[in-house]
Amino acid sequence: MAMPPTELIIFDLGRVLIDFDFKTIVRGLKRHSPLTEKQIISFFEKTPLWDRFERGQVAPVLFFEQLKKELKLSGLTYEVFAPLWNSIFTEKHDTVALLRQLRSRYRIALLSNVNILHWEHVAGRHAFMNWFDHPVASYAVGHRKPDAEIFRILLRRAGIPPARAVFIDDIEANVQAAKRIGLRAYQFINAGQLRRDLEDLL
Ligand SMILES: [Mg+2]
Repeated sequence: MAMPPTELIIFDLGRVLIDFDFKTIVRGLKRHSPLTEKQIISFFEKTPLWDRFERGQVAPVLFFEQLKKELKLSGLTYEVFAPLWNSIFTEKHDTVALLRQLRSRYRIALLSNVNILHWEHVAGRHAFMNWFDHPVASYAVGHRKPDAEIFRILLRRAGIPPARAVFIDDIEANVQAAKRIGLRAYQFINAGQLRRDLEDLL
């Protein structure tokens, strides 16, 4: 049986179209905290605050106030914190070149687990962020990958069945979630591998 034609290609953002260096944030916070870098990293790995920030349940200033309390930050204002939080991104030009090629033949979507500060920062600085027919940010819709609901929201907006969409993400659990609801999905390793995975679509 022939596969239905692909109409929509859905990209993850972090580690696929842009790289980020979370260590820069940790080092910046360390300068204002009695905690060690290890303890700060461990805090971010465990805190429910991260999930809530990415679901849009915590406003940026409240997120910062909570960090101040939990990491015992001193001498750091929100005005200094925000650029420190945001200055961690580098565009992945090889994947963006592939995205540019795909957008001439397919609709393209973005599906990102992201907080509002990072989203607005990246959207204001990277031209490819304006290319998407359907950009979906977790903080704006209140759901995160790998929740099935965030995939359904995107497919509803695009008005297409899962079998006509391809999904690309660096995180295995998100790829598996996409496959469970019927999307063709690939785990992103690098742009060269992705080009091979999508060969029949190029
Ligand atoms: Mg990612």
